[in-house]
Amino acid sequence: MALQSRLAELEAELLTLNARPSEPGEQVQYGKRAGDHIAQVTDQLTRARAAEQVEMLVEQVRAALLRIDEGAYGLCEVCGTPISEGRLAALPWATRCIGCAGTAGGAHPAGR
Ligand SMILES: [Zn+2]
Repeated sequence: MALQSRLAELEAELLTLNARPSEPGEQVQYGKRAGDHIAQVTDQLTRARAAEQVEMLVEQVRAALLRIDEGAYGLCEVCGTPISEGRLAALPWATRCIGCAGTAGGAHPAGR
């Protein structure tokens, strides 16, 4: 099942993103190479943000798997109409039809 392997992938990615780098020279030395420090902070922010996004995806994929169990997979959770095949192919964990997703005003997953 594609969704399950996707979930495993995402969970592995999340672990990587959440792992704290434990290099010996990690302490920041102020005044010496400020550029490095900034790059490090930026990197941490990027990772935190990426981890957040992956976490959201993990939840969406889990929700989709639950919906498969319930037999509600592929139906819009808002209006109950079947989600188009094209949309499900692009976004297997979609829980809303294009119309409802458009008005939700939130998630715009990448890769589309
Ligand atoms: Zn809908």
